[in-house]
Amino acid sequence: TLDAAWARRWAAQAAATVAAAKDDLTELDRQIGDGDHGHNLDRGFRAVVAKLDATPAAADETVGAVLKLVATTLMSTVGGAAGPLYGTAFLRAAKVTDREELDAPAVVALLEAAVEGITARGHATTGEKTMVDAWQPAAEAAAGADGATTLAVLEAAAAAADAGATATIPLVATKGRASYLGERSAGHEDPGARSTALLLAAAVAAAE
Ligand code: ADP
Ligand code: MG
Ligand code: MG
Repeated sequence: TLDAAWARRWAAQAAATVAAAKDDLTELDRQIGDGDHGHNLDRGFRAVVAKLDATPAAADETVGAVLKLVATTLMSTVGGAAGPLYGTAFLRAAKVTDREELDAPAVVALLEAAVEGITARGHATTGEKTMVDAWQPAAEAAAGADGATTLAVLEAAAAAADAGATATIPLVATKGRASYLGERSAGHEDPGARSTALLLAAAVAAAE
């Protein structure tokens, strides 16, 4: 059941996953950026867990209320490019999930809202070697799996994000810090696309 308790488990699982992958994400960012992505996100998700722990769940808590707490905390703690981007993604997602439980179409709406937030904020489209290359295929896969079970929709999204992140390896970055490297950015996976895949895998793990 994708309810507020799930959203809280998602945040906790994301924090655990990011903590475990912190050094790997930072190493990816060291290759084509400034080597802080894993640490930025780890700091943010630690703060998210602390914030949620300090905020007892109301009996009628909505998924959106949890995602909004995640959003505002990420915005104020992650910094860099990813902080405002992830913050906006979760804030937009919160706006379309102001309900106690998500069905499959609501999962699609959550992902589409996240993509819209990221592109409104960062003006990147697919193929520019950014987190959009994981979020966009995730939203499309979810929309394509609509009619499947809610968990299957989420799983399809996570699988597409994972493939999307891997597919950033040969791309040349044209947005964000990695774009400063030009052609030399090719041959490395985009850290934000990889962290997006990890966050969606955490959403699946929290649902199982
Ligand atoms: P910074 O580059 O400021 O150090 P981070 O290292 O935390 O920030 O995050 C870098 C990630 O942010 C990149 O790997 C990329 O996925 C994402 N990113 C950067 N710029 C954009 C953008 N304009 N649109 C979407 N994603 C972006
Ligand atoms: Mg960085
Ligand atoms: Mg930085």
